[in-house]
Amino acid sequence: MSTDNSLMPDPEFDAKIEALIGSIRSVYGDEFIPLHRPVFEGNERQYLVDCIDSNFVSSVGKEIVQFENMICDYTGAKYAVATVNGTAALHAALVCAGVGRGDEVLSQALTFIATCNAISYTGAKPVFVDVDKDTMGMSPTALRAWLSENTTQKDGQCVNKMTGAVIRACVPMHTFGMVLRISEIAKICEEFCITLIEDAAESLGSFEGGTHTGRFGAMATLSFNGNKVITTGGGGMVLTDDEELAKTLKHTTTTAKVPHPTEFVHDRIGYNYRMPNLNAVLGVAQMQTLPSMMDIKTEIAAFYKALGESQGWNVVQARKGTTANNWLVAFCMETPEQRDVFLTRTNAAGVMTRPIWRLMNELEMFKDCQHDGLTVSKWLEQRIVNVSSGVPDARLKDVKISS
Ligand SMILES: *Cc1c(COP(=O)(O)O)cnc(C)c1O
Repeated sequence: MSTDNSLMPDPEFDAKIEALIGSIRSVYGDEFIPLHRPVFEGNERQYLVDCIDSNFVSSVGKEIVQFENMICDYTGAKYAVATVNGTAALHAALVCAGVGRGDEVLSQALTFIATCNAISYTGAKPVFVDVDKDTMGMSPTALRAWLSENTTQKDGQCVNKMTGAVIRACVPMHTFGMVLRISEIAKICEEFCITLIEDAAESLGSFEGGTHTGRFGAMATLSFNGNKVITTGGGGMVLTDDEELAKTLKHTTTTAKVPHPTEFVHDRIGYNYRMPNLNAVLGVAQMQTLPSMMDIKTEIAAFYKALGESQGWNVVQARKGTTANNWLVAFCMETPEQRDVFLTRTNAAGVMTRPIWRLMNELEMFKDCQHDGLTVSKWLEQRIVNVSSGVPDARLKDVKISS
């Protein structure tokens, strides 16, 4: 990604960016426009005050359970366990899937760092397979090719022929809320005896057919960080349909304390990962406004789709048969040089845009991880940018509490 070329004048591209900035400003106004922002137009303030008055601000409280139930209702998951953040949710899910030191976990190089950090916390090593160009998420073709070439089955486990390590889990990630080919990934994981854990941190509100993301594997994780579709300040959740797993998840994330009226007995290394009630009350309020937020975000996505057509931008669209939550709208630039110019010009104009993540295998900590060449990931890394995707000021009045 040379910056030298970006200095070469291209008046036509500059004019195209100017037109785009004008169009974005017509929706978002004249001030600095962030990429995304939290929206608190519902019961958030009231619930926070009530929570403080109740004294139940910490890891015990009825709103934690209420928030978990609301997420279950919305996603269709049978069980949900709320955690302090999405990274902790991923870590807990991996631990409960039996991932540990010496294991390997398949994932994407094109993801946010949290996915690979969580894998590393268990002592396991990530292995990266490529993504599909249209979904920016794990490619079933790449996954099958890598597994067929590099693994063998031993005692019902998938073993890496080169390292001898067990491939214990696979963690695909729904980039920016675009739904990857998750049904196909699920089939392959089953065939190769690998536990599927979906990183659905970015895809609350995204569906394949009528099925919510995070419903295709043994477990899935969500994030409620401040920049996500809904926020609890910080927060996360693990989803599962397995009652035993749900119990283990709850136990593991609450210091593994054995229930007893007075004694402190813990039966394994546990984690203090429980979401505080103070955060959960925000989650309850945010879930009440989520449907209207989704409506507004659908309109914003439509606005960008139309802009793409009229001004000639390649706006990434949801795969056929899926519904995206439109968390962050993504443009695909024609060249790495155009990407650099685009980022410089828009940000200088106070319209925040940003590149997609640096590939994980390019970071110091993961540079020795095995991968399949990552041709598409690399191509996307050099071209994908995100544009302002939050709720515009003028639409805040349309954020409604649903019954
Ligand atoms: C946000 C996010 C997470 C979790 O992040 P936290 O900040 O720990 O909640 C995990 N994976 C991806 C891909 C994310 O975008």
